[in-house]
Amino acid sequence: MTLTKGYAAKSAGEALSNFNFQRREVGSHDVQFDILYCGVCHSDLHQIRNEWGGTNFPVVPGHEIVGRVTKVGTLVTKFKQGDLAGVGCLVDSCRDCDNCKKGLEQFCRNGATSTYNSKDKHLGGVTYGGYSKQIVADEAFVLKISDKLPLETVAPLLCAGITTYSPLRHWKVGKGHKVAVVGLGGLGHMAVKFASSFGAEVTMLSTSPDKEKDARKLGAHHFANTKITEQIKALASKFDFIIDTVSAQHNYNDYLAMLNTDGVMICVGAPPTPSQIMAFSLIGGRKSLAGSLIGGLPETQEMLDYCAEHNITSDIELIRMDYIDKAFERMLAGDVKYRFVIDMATL
Ligand code: NAP
Ligand code: ZN
Ligand code: ZN
Repeated sequence: MTLTKGYAAKSAGEALSNFNFQRREVGSHDVQFDILYCGVCHSDLHQIRNEWGGTNFPVVPGHEIVGRVTKVGTLVTKFKQGDLAGVGCLVDSCRDCDNCKKGLEQFCRNGATSTYNSKDKHLGGVTYGGYSKQIVADEAFVLKISDKLPLETVAPLLCAGITTYSPLRHWKVGKGHKVAVVGLGGLGHMAVKFASSFGAEVTMLSTSPDKEKDARKLGAHHFANTKITEQIKALASKFDFIIDTVSAQHNYNDYLAMLNTDGVMICVGAPPTPSQIMAFSLIGGRKSLAGSLIGGLPETQEMLDYCAEHNITSDIELIRMDYIDKAFERMLAGDVKYRFVIDMATL
């Protein structure tokens, strides 16, 4: 085992601080890499505050992890020392159930192993995430990273990227579709980039009018301030798809009203509190309310390759490790442009 430096929340709501823990030795199928950058996802914030329940403390968050390989196991074929590598939200699954066999490891029937706060099959205890110096994972759950893109802007693709790419691909969103993205944060800005790259006409629905200029730069064709009732009303029945990335409670019925006949609203944002949905919001217009969870390993690699080919990256603000509590505060206030990424050299 290797003693590894990390940054952890030791109880709900407490500031993060130094935390040393063990990583396993490199097994025959394992890849070990030094973490260079780690993105900061709103899911990290939900979990350090135990807003979804089930957080095991201390928790080392971080599931947008990129770095350089230091050691590989004897049977590893995809990686060698010195390669770039990435880990997203998953580090293992049963690999045997129908969903795993379809490359939908995120829906593993036997419970996928999340990068942090999951049961650690190797060492006991729980898994620890990317706010740390190094990580060891089975090569089946390690992604190949192109050296064409600035590495720090690639980290957020491992969660924010795949979480928005996957539903857009699943529902075959593209040319001729009118798509709205709700919430311009980490996920939202990637949804805008992908939807416009796939050829859709994109509208940004935001509570922050000061983000309009950026939204257009990111690829949105239109912008509406959801705090202004007239702007919302004017969008009735407009969209084929809505990607909802909002992290806090909001009224889904207001957005369902903006769907066209047979439209689909896809929730990727995961507010900790339940919402009331009126059946009437769906009945008129035969509308669907759907959800989507990250993406499987094959699709995550496909997304990374697509980004390398089409020069798609995350717009980031690089921060020091000890800025993390301030970053979380700003995230809560919607002040993220558009993903915080931690420079792990500062840990
Ligand atoms: P983020 O960067 O904080 O962005 C969320 C955005 O939502 C904010 O910037 C803000 O945008 C908008 N917003 C916040 N509070 C709002 C409110 N009360 N009403 C309306 N809009 C509000 O968060 P993120 O990292 O993108 O994550 C977003 C959500 O997705 C989180 O709940 C996270 O846990 C979840 N998530 C889900 C998956 C999945 O697999 N499904 C994966 C990753 C994350 P505006 O300023 O533009 O309004
Ligand atoms: Zn995430
Ligand atoms: Zn499985």
